[in-house]
Amino acid sequence: MFNLRKIALAAASIAALSVPGIAAAEGMVGISMPTKTSARWIDDGNNMVKQFQEAGYQTDLQYADDDIPNQLAQIENMITKGVNVLVIAAIDGTTLSNALANAKAADVKIIAYDRLIRDTPDIDYYATFDNFKVGVEQATTLVDGLKERFPDVKPWNVELFGGSPDDNNAFFFYDGAMSVIQPLIDDGSIVIPSGQMGMDKVGTLRWDPATAQSRMDNILSANYTDKQVNGVLSPYDGLSIGILSSLKGVGYGSGDMKMPIVSGQDAELQSVKSIQAGEQYSTIFKDTRELAKVTVGMVNAMMKGEEPQVNDTETYNNGVKVVPSYLLEPVAVTEKNLTDVLVGSGYYTEDQLK
Ligand code: BGC
Repeated sequence: MFNLRKIALAAASIAALSVPGIAAAEGMVGISMPTKTSARWIDDGNNMVKQFQEAGYQTDLQYADDDIPNQLAQIENMITKGVNVLVIAAIDGTTLSNALANAKAADVKIIAYDRLIRDTPDIDYYATFDNFKVGVEQATTLVDGLKERFPDVKPWNVELFGGSPDDNNAFFFYDGAMSVIQPLIDDGSIVIPSGQMGMDKVGTLRWDPATAQSRMDNILSANYTDKQVNGVLSPYDGLSIGILSSLKGVGYGSGDMKMPIVSGQDAELQSVKSIQAGEQYSTIFKDTRELAKVTVGMVNAMMKGEEPQVNDTETYNNGVKVVPSYLLEPVAVTEKNLTDVLVGSGYYTEDQLK
């Protein structure tokens, strides 16, 4: 029997040599990213375009401005254009089921990128970092920093921030962090003066820095008239920037008000510089080049009818099925290892960090 798909691909590949806009040899990949407000997603998109194109794919990269209907429309448009593969970092992990059912019906392969897509049987694989470990590392650096900067304070006053409640990762980060912090609350080493705990109280919709800043303002004015905050669990560099502005606004970081220990995530340039300046204490480096590599590898295997390499088949239940996943290792970064990790890996140049 003729292999019509192979013939079509071969024809497309000949056409692609001369006619722009025709699917390249290996197929077309739709890459749907949430927002450009954070540098990491810009890097993710660029890294994937580069690596997919090097592997012979055509790409369609779209950013959805953190707007759910926008992301849905972009994905539907990709399906109409005839993509073979969708790689999606969802804004809201629960709103894509119908679009993905349409994609599956059109035989499109679907990868959840960084963020799990929930409530659908239609995603094939999940490429991400060990998200629980991200939270563990955030809290571990927080506690290390508390010991270092506030050795004589007991108990430490700490406040908690979580990520967006529509992002499955936010719960993993929070749970990972609390696996370190809760025992210290239980033994009296840490108190949470605001009493605000649990993702329903500490979540930050759409990871919005301004929301975190105003929540920090409110916490400070309601709970800290007679005491000082020593540490803030922040799950993302953008939120850390908002939290630090709030703290600086009432005098932390000068006079007898030491800067609290503030964590973060993504090793974004502005926050790395803040760490160098002694403001933010830590971040979590997640090498988006590696995540792109894992994703391209998964797509290549699927397109050849092979099984992609995964290293976790238990953790990520999306409400319908456990999604086979590949988890990369996050790396905690403080002032101490910043140059080694970020310049050493080539993620930033020395000049960028000056
Ligand atoms: C990502 C984090 C990022 C956050 C905000 C999460 O889903 O895993 O790396 O900090 O979204 O963009």
